[in-house]
Amino acid sequence: MPHCPACQQEAPAAVSRCPLDRSFFVLSRCPRCEAEVFPKERFCAACGSHLEGGPVRLAARLTAASVPARVAASLLDGLALLVAYEIWLSLEWGGGLPVVALLAAAWWGLLPVRAGQTLGQHVMGQVVLTEDRQELNLKASLARMLAAAFSWAFLGPLRALFRADGATTSEAWTRTRTWSLQPDAEETPA
Ligand SMILES: [Zn+2]
Ligand SMILES: [Zn+2]
Repeated sequence: MPHCPACQQEAPAAVSRCPLDRSFFVLSRCPRCEAEVFPKERFCAACGSHLEGGPVRLAARLTAASVPARVAASLLDGLALLVAYEIWLSLEWGGGLPVVALLAAAWWGLLPVRAGQTLGQHVMGQVVLTEDRQELNLKASLARMLAAAFSWAFLGPLRALFRADGATTSEAWTRTRTWSLQPDAEETPA
């Protein structure tokens, strides 16, 4: 049963994050036999291993965001950035490419830090995490953004269409993923 690593409550069906503290629900497994273990257990019930290293935690109920949904999120972000740039110009502090680059860097680099999302991703129910579903720190997020900007030069984002795990080239490089908070159809209670 997935549970919250912060407050230990069990995950209600079809929810990815704890409503109390917004932590992602996790499923803990024994590092030796991969049997599911429960919070606060010190020994694996299946193989008797001492869980001193801590169980391996696997997040539940996140699927790779689909390419059309990601394109939609990017378009929404582009629109929001356009509005932000208009506001910037109205302040009469000067415009041009450096300002656009700075705004884009702040938008895509800073917003996804610590399980964040851009505005477009928020609307589309997406979240950016590492490959193993940990929250991004500032360094990882900036690396991800630079890799994404660079990979556009040879259409790296298109690769997400052909990969089973739905990762773009830059995501494969930086070991990050865009996850959809919508649960799988099979996980939705009838
Ligand atoms: Zn919680
Ligand atoms: Zn075990």
